[in-house]
Amino acid sequence: MQRRRILQGGAVAAAAALLPASVRAVAAPAAGTDYPSAQWAPASTSNYSVSNRPAAYRVDFVVVHVAQQTFSETIGIFQNPAKQVSAHYVVRSGDGFVAQCVREKDIAWHAGNWDYNTRSIGIEHEGWVDQPAYFTDAMYEQSARLTADICDRHGLPKDRAHIIGHHQVPGSDHTDPGANWDWVRYIRLVNLL
Ligand SMILES: [Zn+2]
Repeated sequence: MQRRRILQGGAVAAAAALLPASVRAVAAPAAGTDYPSAQWAPASTSNYSVSNRPAAYRVDFVVVHVAQQTFSETIGIFQNPAKQVSAHYVVRSGDGFVAQCVREKDIAWHAGNWDYNTRSIGIEHEGWVDQPAYFTDAMYEQSARLTADICDRHGLPKDRAHIIGHHQVPGSDHTDPGANWDWVRYIRLVNLL
């Protein structure tokens, strides 16, 4: 995601605790999501490509992002047809709440690389790369549960060759999830949960 800064440190807990009206308005039972624990918060249909994966493209990667936004701002960006960006999932900092914005069969626009977009599932995390306080225990745990479920359903090994950072996408000029993201912990949790 873009690096625009709207919210600096302070209101972390308050922002994380709020489910935005935009999400409440469209919230549906979890039955429609690919990940049972996720709440459906659909992106604008202008912000992703409809597909029929894995028939059209095999899913080879989970791409880990840090949004450089709050949770609610991230959902709002995905719902804005002018933004031309989306990810399949967004994980909230304070409690690890997971929203699904794009179906896994469809191609979200998150990696900045069409080939990688077609072959991956993107997970955005609320927060900023230089503010590790956003990377809470709850967020690591719930994100790891989500990634483990994705890996199980798509037959992906739970390792760093298949669970990658946005910065590892060829041609990417993004640094997320950044030096404060604890990859050792994350991969351990993915294999544990
Ligand atoms: Zn990213």
